[in-house]
Amino acid sequence: MEELKQKIINEGQVIGTEILKVDCFLNHQLDVAFLDRVAKEFYERYKSQRIDKILTVEVSGIAIAVLTAMYFGVPVLFAKKLQSKTLNEEMYEAQVHSFTKKIDYNIRVAKKFLNEEDHVLIIDDFLAKGQAALGLAEICDQAGATVEGIGIVIEKDFQEGGSILRDSGYRVDSLARIVEMNEEEIIFGEE
Ligand code: 5GP
Repeated sequence: MEELKQKIINEGQVIGTEILKVDCFLNHQLDVAFLDRVAKEFYERYKSQRIDKILTVEVSGIAIAVLTAMYFGVPVLFAKKLQSKTLNEEMYEAQVHSFTKKIDYNIRVAKKFLNEEDHVLIIDDFLAKGQAALGLAEICDQAGATVEGIGIVIEKDFQEGGSILRDSGYRVDSLARIVEMNEEEIIFGEE
């Protein structure tokens, strides 16, 4: 998505060679009008599929998932990272290793919100090593739900997540694929 690439070049900040900071439009401040166009792009790519639910993980996937769900007219389900005192019901659960925070955490979804009838589009902001998306796909497997695809705003192609997911048979749509980056330049590959 050309507008997304320009936005990354103009407003993104590369930390070292592995982390891209896009706090100004995606991860802290949200450029809602722009993110709505990102969401519309996901809709265009998946509108011929049956999508019953958008699944993401808190926190940074939620905004883009909500905007995408508006186009499909379906609910958003976001996996919770923390054990909540109000979550005293049956949950699906998967373990995720965070590449940015260097910790393991569990993600959970209440069983009552996902079942074998559901066709799911997984949405996330970044794809790095694929752990978050794999955790969400595992939760769909536990529920017997069908993963129609994985929509990613920014994929870092030089990390292994994309190939792990595609080699596992998932359809992955990334709207910008970064093949290389450093503090001077960001190089994009084919989407
Ligand atoms: P993965 O599970 O694919 O290794 O990492 C994906 C998750 O880590 C995303 O949900 C995102 O929150 C975070 N993440 C990974 N790489 C980056 C990055 O370069 N910048 C930001 N802002 N978040 C990242």
